[in-house]
Amino acid sequence: MARIYNFSAGPSMLPEAVLLQAQREMLDWQGSGMSVMEMSHRGKHFMAIAEQMKADLIELLAVPAGYQVLFLQGGATAQFAMIPQNILNGKTKACYVNTGAWSTAAIKEAGKYCEVQIAASAEAASFTTIPAYADWQIDSGAAYLHYTSNETIHGVEFNDVPQVGELPLVCDMSSNILSRPVDVSRYGIIYAGTQKNMGPSGVTVVIVRDDLVGLETKNTPAVFSYAQQAKADSMLNTPATYNWYLLGLTLQWLKGEGGVGAIEQRNIRKAGKLYDAIDNSSLYRNPVDKAYRSRMNVPFVLSDPALDKEFLALAERNGLSTLAGHRSVGGMRASIYNAMPEAGVDALIAFMAEFERTH
Ligand code: PMP
Repeated sequence: MARIYNFSAGPSMLPEAVLLQAQREMLDWQGSGMSVMEMSHRGKHFMAIAEQMKADLIELLAVPAGYQVLFLQGGATAQFAMIPQNILNGKTKACYVNTGAWSTAAIKEAGKYCEVQIAASAEAASFTTIPAYADWQIDSGAAYLHYTSNETIHGVEFNDVPQVGELPLVCDMSSNILSRPVDVSRYGIIYAGTQKNMGPSGVTVVIVRDDLVGLETKNTPAVFSYAQQAKADSMLNTPATYNWYLLGLTLQWLKGEGGVGAIEQRNIRKAGKLYDAIDNSSLYRNPVDKAYRSRMNVPFVLSDPALDKEFLALAERNGLSTLAGHRSVGGMRASIYNAMPEAGVDALIAFMAEFERTH
């Protein structure tokens, strides 16, 4: 068996220990005589899996009292619509910060429900930076302020929590959740798809403050209502049971690695050495403002784009997979989430140096 280093932006690498445990438990989960896939979501076995998974997430993220933790479907993309549906609460405006492709997508969807005030935008800088907080135009009459803590395509990441006064702060953490400690109490809503740092795709984690639950518009479909999902413990309809299980195994793995604080140190090391390798070369370049470079997604371009194809093909042959940048920006992108071993980053750096030497 030869497992490659997969630098995909998501779905992405899972810890090998998680895959092996899932494999061991595939036919018979802990003496139940069945696979997790075959269990009733209301049965005692699955209820135990679900409870443990939720408790582990609350522990890892240190979610304080006063928040609902939901496990929904539809990805972060569904949240783009659910957020305005659930928390506009009669207001007609929401503030959005635009730091890249995913902010832009959230803004487009929100525009179907309300007036969107762009509080700040890095579009003129080709999404290579984050506008200074002092320049943000925040309307205190808006229902909330939304931002994207890590732009998966552009490789731009916030290092702290923006100050937005009294407005509920809503954050798309799809691509950096659980990669660094976060003060949940500063947020109205945190949401993230699972397919980067938490497991395979198919589940969306939504952490929503109690005062924002129960404000949805009357015509909100039941499965899209935070209140109804909270009341049903995210089982208003049949959940993605196997994905909940794999999410749970990934959280157990993270706890075993020492939790979010420990993984952050590893992430700092991994990203630091990759950016150093890029900065110290004359072939590779990362366009992002150094203060806001993402620890999770490292985009880079080759000074001669004619070499791109060969770089990708050779990398693939060396077991370094899915390094092409998003089709909208081109170049390369190495996504190095929690489950990417440090050895994978070392292998990429060695390959890049060798490619530069021979080209
Ligand atoms: N937001 C961010 C930051 C993302 O990276 C992605 C997916 N790459 C999405 C939203 C969309 O997520 P999903 O496909 O789970 O709807």
